[in-house]
Amino acid sequence: MASMDRRCFLKHCGRCAIFLAGVEMLDTVGFDGTALAQGLQKGLVHRKLSPYFTPLDGERVRCELCPRECEVEKGERGECGVRENVDGKYYSLVYGNPCAVHVDPIEKKPFFHVLPATSSFSIATAGCNLHCKFCQNWEISQARPDETYNHDLPPEEVVKQAARYQCRSIASTYVEPTIFIEYMLDIGRLAKEQKILKVIHSNGFINPAPLKDLCKVLDAACIDLKGFTDDFYREVTGGSLKPVLETLKQLKENGVHTELVNLIVPTKNDSMDEIRSMCRWIRTELGPDVPLHFSRFYPLYKLKSLPPTPLATLEAAWKTALDEGLHYVYIGNVPGHPAENTTCPSCRKTVIERNGYQIRNVSLIEGRCQFCRHPIRGIWAV
Ligand code: SF4
Repeated sequence: MASMDRRCFLKHCGRCAIFLAGVEMLDTVGFDGTALAQGLQKGLVHRKLSPYFTPLDGERVRCELCPRECEVEKGERGECGVRENVDGKYYSLVYGNPCAVHVDPIEKKPFFHVLPATSSFSIATAGCNLHCKFCQNWEISQARPDETYNHDLPPEEVVKQAARYQCRSIASTYVEPTIFIEYMLDIGRLAKEQKILKVIHSNGFINPAPLKDLCKVLDAACIDLKGFTDDFYREVTGGSLKPVLETLKQLKENGVHTELVNLIVPTKNDSMDEIRSMCRWIRTELGPDVPLHFSRFYPLYKLKSLPPTPLATLEAAWKTALDEGLHYVYIGNVPGHPAENTTCPSCRKTVIERNGYQIRNVSLIEGRCQFCRHPIRGIWAV
């Protein structure tokens, strides 16, 4: 692929920004206007044989990638719409074909404990293995790759462009990255050679075997813990809770830095009893140092009739999490709120001061609080 000069980049920005309108809503505010658009083509579909399937009788296959374990007839696709049974073999249709490519602040993922104030080269393909009624990016997550405008961006080009835009990490984000795992794995291997971090924002709905492969290339994972009951998962996301909890335990066992996001949706998952149970589970199973972001819901997609999360609810959740012993608790999608800052759990002084995605001050020395030398969990240097 020919490299892109600045004039070409700017020419394509408008088109990309329009198409990615849904993506700009991710995390709700502060899209920095930087986008990469090159070789966009509707319905560009490359095939790549997936290692994550089992052949069944009569040319049917069972996908082993996520807990849905779709059994797929010849010529058909699984639930996520990006994997197809071609003559008894199962293929990814989105390898090297992202429909969203942005340079974002790492804080937008949101990672608050990974290389603050750096840029993350962020990509997504079409498709998702869940169907959340509050999805901010439903235009691409609920689309098939044949319906979106896609880039022809092989893994080596992703890493090259990330370096070119001085990104310290490459993020698979916006939709569920599990569905383009083969692409992620190859990007991750190449990124490691360049000392660029590989990070994901994921729903955690993945089977243990592919996750084991992913952990080998993954530096950090931001996981949506969307609620803490199976009923909520079934009704609002179409998934289930247990596999997500297993994913979190596996990430911990593999030493992958993990942050959690809990979007609080009024009347759906805003019970303080449920939030308290979730915080207790996090503290017991993952430890008190896992950052937890409570995020404000805004009405969209299939939940337009609900109001935005009241600030009082977010603050009550934040206090509950601190009462339960979690050390790093944040309120997201409320720019300027003091709960965007990182506080040292030992001396209680502010060690990272933020406003939205902007970093105002960092008081860390080699990953420790500069005031009392207490270690602060995170990836602070590469
Ligand atoms: S990754 Fe897609 S095809 Fe595979 S089990 Fe999950 S939803 Fe089904």
